[in-house]
Amino acid sequence: MENKKANQIECNDKFCSKHGKLSIRGRSFKGKVIRKFPKRICIEFERTVYIKKYERYSKRKTKLHARLPDCMAQDVNIGDYVEIRECRPISKIIHFCFVKKIQSKGAEK
Ligand SMILES: [Zn+2]
Repeated sequence: MENKKANQIECNDKFCSKHGKLSIRGRSFKGKVIRKFPKRICIEFERTVYIKKYERYSKRKTKLHARLPDCMAQDVNIGDYVEIRECRPISKIIHFCFVKKIQSKGAEK
């Protein structure tokens, strides 16, 4: 557990976007963290879909799993508003990587 004492200097995660070899490219999304796992977060965000028949918009929700590198795991909590970016598929469900935290849970509008 030297990582905590060294304060984010050491990072052995090869799927870390800053210290590892993982390149992040492609689409990026912003959403709320609804679940947190070791090395993985699940975010959810709303999008609007136009329904032609009724000429109206409907709300749909999207859930995405994103890689959470160990060096940034401390400052992400459930309820935070974060940004994730697409990367190569790391596992069956993870093809996004956590980029940055935009807002903490308490600081919502
Ligand atoms: Zn790292």
